[in-house]
Amino acid sequence: MANTERVLVTGAGGFIGHHLTKYLVDRGYWVRGVDIQEPEYEASAAHEFELLDLRRFDNALMATRGVDHVYSLAADMGGIGFIESNKGPIMRNNTYISLNTLEAARVNKASRLLYTSSACIYPGYLQKDENVTPLKESDAYPADAEDGYGWEKLYTERMCRHYTEDFGLDTRVVRFHNIFGPLGTYEGGREKSPAAMCRKIAMASDGGTIEVWGDGHQTRSYCYIDDCVEGIYRLMMSDFREPINLGQDRMISVNELVDIVANIAGKRIERTHNLTAPQGVRGRNSDNTLLREVLNWEPQISLEEGLGRTYRWIYAQLGDRVSQTAELAAA
Ligand code: NAD
Repeated sequence: MANTERVLVTGAGGFIGHHLTKYLVDRGYWVRGVDIQEPEYEASAAHEFELLDLRRFDNALMATRGVDHVYSLAADMGGIGFIESNKGPIMRNNTYISLNTLEAARVNKASRLLYTSSACIYPGYLQKDENVTPLKESDAYPADAEDGYGWEKLYTERMCRHYTEDFGLDTRVVRFHNIFGPLGTYEGGREKSPAAMCRKIAMASDGGTIEVWGDGHQTRSYCYIDDCVEGIYRLMMSDFREPINLGQDRMISVNELVDIVANIAGKRIERTHNLTAPQGVRGRNSDNTLLREVLNWEPQISLEEGLGRTYRWIYAQLGDRVSQTAELAAA
């Protein structure tokens, strides 16, 4: 299938941007990928891949030259441990990146821009209970976003609205809920809970012990990467301009997440709970009513299937570091 639009993916060296680039190239788009770093695990599928720092406006102008559609994914980000301890750098860096990308897209007359926001924009006061009511888009206000990272996301959502209203740049805003899968960061401090659990359990022996942050009763929903890129593309092609959730709406506790991964690994796993580690909100789930209505679609891949693929990839990455006593049950 040939598509005539020229596309920019920012953050193309990162987890979601890398998968999205492959998806768009497969659909016949000409794609420029931009990032401050190369993809970590395999070469980018982009027709052009440029190393640019989008905190600089001149670089954002270069990135957006001659493109019709901009997928704005670049951000300084990581799991809860990272975003809670780097609020200043994250807010500064992401404000520069997001605003420069929007403004440069306007100057270079891109027709459409999709911005990747986050469930971290939802108010803390709605997420104090592990049996949380799923969050619907209108719950964002009155605002009480995740301090630092979440506030920048919410601010840029508003910028997108006003760039559409006042400058005619057609924008889309997607709020991701915990995306995971192969080729995502799994160690080093920026990893999120599914990848961290896969790594810890891959490295534990049968009957071994892993550390879990918090008491493990905190709840989340997790969405597999292939569903994420499918949803991003469907939203970009739609005419829907308001922020919209993209995630699974099956909520589980972190302890249940450990159980699922341990089952995939074929191991009995004990756990210790680190009650002083950062945990984020107590409960979070996605209300997918609007997603189903607008896109006539919702994520398809089960948590077990997605975690199985992710576990096997992380297990292979760890190579010799994996405990020799373990067998990969889900091979
Ligand atoms: P990621 O960290 O893997 O990718 C982000 C990429 O942005 C990285 O490759 C990074 O090098 C790049 N980047 C950072 N600073 C840059 C700069 N100054 N100039 C150019 N590139 C820069 O993260 P991801 O999981 O792929 O997330 C993609 C987007 O989705 C981000 O905007 C993130 O905030 C958002 N998001 C992700 C999740 C999730 O669960 N993964 C959840 C909510 C929102």
